[in-house]
Amino acid sequence: MTMDKEHHHSEDRTSPADAWADARAMIDAPDGSINIAYEAIDRHVEQGHGEDIAMLWLGKTGSRLPFTYADLADASGRLANVLAAHGLTKGDSVFALMGRVPELYVTALGTLKAGMIFTPLFSAFGPEPIQTRMEIGSANVLVTTAELYKRKIAGWRDQIPSLRLVLILGDDAPEGCVALGPAMAAASPSFQTVRTGPEDPALIHFTSGTTGKPKGAVHVHNAVVYHAFSGRYALDLTPGTIYWCTADPGWVTGTSYGIIAPLVNRVTMIVDEAEFDLDRWYSTVQNEKVEVWYSAPTAIRMMMRSGADAAAPYDFSSIRFLASVGEPLNPEAVIWSEKVFGQPFHDNWWQTETGGIMIANRPGMTVRPGSMGQPMPGIEAGIVERGEQGLAELGSGQVGELALRPGWPSMMRAYLHEQARYDKCFVDGWYLSGDLALRDADGYFWFVGRADDLIKTSGHLIGPFEVESALIEHPAVAEAGVIGIPDETAGEIVKAYVTLNPGYDPDAQLERELRGHARKKLGPAVAPREVIFRKTLPKTRSGKIMRRLLKARELGLPEGDISTLESDES
Ligand code: ATP
Ligand code: MG
Repeated sequence: MTMDKEHHHSEDRTSPADAWADARAMIDAPDGSINIAYEAIDRHVEQGHGEDIAMLWLGKTGSRLPFTYADLADASGRLANVLAAHGLTKGDSVFALMGRVPELYVTALGTLKAGMIFTPLFSAFGPEPIQTRMEIGSANVLVTTAELYKRKIAGWRDQIPSLRLVLILGDDAPEGCVALGPAMAAASPSFQTVRTGPEDPALIHFTSGTTGKPKGAVHVHNAVVYHAFSGRYALDLTPGTIYWCTADPGWVTGTSYGIIAPLVNRVTMIVDEAEFDLDRWYSTVQNEKVEVWYSAPTAIRMMMRSGADAAAPYDFSSIRFLASVGEPLNPEAVIWSEKVFGQPFHDNWWQTETGGIMIANRPGMTVRPGSMGQPMPGIEAGIVERGEQGLAELGSGQVGELALRPGWPSMMRAYLHEQARYDKCFVDGWYLSGDLALRDADGYFWFVGRADDLIKTSGHLIGPFEVESALIEHPAVAEAGVIGIPDETAGEIVKAYVTLNPGYDPDAQLERELRGHARKKLGPAVAPREVIFRKTLPKTRSGKIMRRLLKARELGLPEGDISTLESDES
C-alpha cells in the first residue's frame, strides 16, 4: 500500500492569520469588494483564460457539452440582466429547483453576480419541503422547469407573497411565469457585477435534516476565500485539473465544491446530470480522464458492493486524488479503494455550517483508514466537554464534542430565523459541531458519532460508527446502521440494521454469524445483540443514514421531519 507517504505532525500548524493571508492572495477582491461569481468566472476571463473549459456537462441521454469560462461569463451575465430587468435588486432571494442541468450553474453564478442570494434545492424534493424552504428563505424568484412547476409549485404558489418572479427553463412558460429561453436571448451578456462586500449574504444552504428539522445556514461572499484555499489544499485543485464532484448542489457539497471551489481554482469540472450508475461512473472517470474525484461514502459503498471485478476492465490511471465527505468513511472502504483505484479515498469532515472542509486527509498526508485526518491549515479544532465551569478541552484519546475556533471565512453567519439556536452553537470561544470525536496522539481526528446517536450500555459509551464499520468488514454486509434501544438492565442495547451484498441470504444462520463476527471484533459489550436485515436503510437525499428514523420506527415514536428522506422501502 502506498498510504505511507510523508509524515505530517500536528505541530506544524499554520496560524489562522497566515493561512487567511495566503488564502486571500488566491483571489482578486478588487478595492475591498468581493463577489463569488466574479472570482469564479469573470476574473479568469479578464486574465485571458476565457477559452479554458469550465464545465463539461454530461446529459442523461448521452450529450456531452463543454462550456468555456467565457460561455459561463456570457450566460451568467444574461441571467443577471434578466433578474435586473424584472426589478430585482441586491439582497433579493433566488431559489433554484432543477436537476443538474447547465442552467442550474448559470443561475447560481448569475444570481451571485447580481448581488442576490442563491438557494439551491434538490429537484426530487416534494412540494411540502420546497414550500417550507421557500418560506423560510423569503424567496423572491424561483427558477425551475415547467414540469416541476406544474407538479410541485403551482398548487401553493400564491401562499408565498414574497415570490415575485418564476422563471421557467426553455421557450414556453405556464401562465404567470416567464420563459427563460427568450428572456436570456434578448438580454445583454455584459453585466457589471454588483459590488458586494465580504459580509454580504450570498448563499443559503439547508442542512441535511439527518438529526431533525433542517436549518437554513446563511453564507457570505467572503466564503470564497476559504473555497479557493480549501479547494487547492484539501482537494488538490489546480488550473486545468479535470475534476468531478458527484454531489448535487441541493446539498452544500455540490455548491461549495461542485461550483465555487473548482471554478475559483480554474479547473474543468465534470457535471453529470444522471444519478449513480456503476458503469456510467467508471466510464466517466476513464473516458474523461478524471484526475480528482470527490464523492461520498454511500456511493463508495455501492461501488464496493459491486466488487473489484466490476472495476477491473476500466483504466483509472488518470486519477490523482480521491476524496470523500458526508458520513464516516469505513476503513474497509479506504483499503478497498486503494486496491481498486490505486489511491485511497481521503476522508474529510465538514458541515453545512462550516461552509468548507475543516478536517481532512490532505494530498500527501499519510492516510489512517477510518480517520477524518487533521485540521486544515488555519483551522483550530479541539475535543471538548461541557462541565460546570464551562467547556473543558480534553486530551488525546478522549471522546468528546468536536469543536472549532470560529473565524474562518466560510463560517455560517446565521441560522435563518433561529437566532437562539445559532447562539447556542457558540460557547466559551468555541463553535460546537454536535459531533463526537477523538484526537489521537499524532493529531488525527476520529469520528465517533453524532452526539444524538451515542449509545450508552452497561457503563460503556458506544459510537455507532465503530460497530457499523466492524459489520461492514464481513463479506456479506453492504451497509449498516446501528442504534441504541432502551433496556431495563443495560440502559440501552445495541441493535444493528444491515443490507447485504449480492449472493447472501438474510437467514438466522447469517444473523448469528454476524453477531459472532462483531463480538470477535468489538467484544461482547459493544457488539450488537440483534441484527436486522433490510433491503435499504433510510437515508437523506445527500446519502446519510438516518439513524433517528430507525430508532423512531423501532420504538413506535413519531418520525419527526422526514422532508429530506430519500428511498425508503424498509
Ligand atoms: P442536520 O444538521 O440537519 O441534522 P446534517 O448534519 O447531516 O443534517 P450536513 O451539514 O449536510 O447536515 O452534514 C454534516 C454532518 O455530516 C456532520 O456534522 C457529520 O455528522 C457528518 N459528516 C460529514 N462528513 C463526515 C465525515 N467525514 N465523517 C463523519 N461524519 C461526517
Ligand atoms: Mg448537522
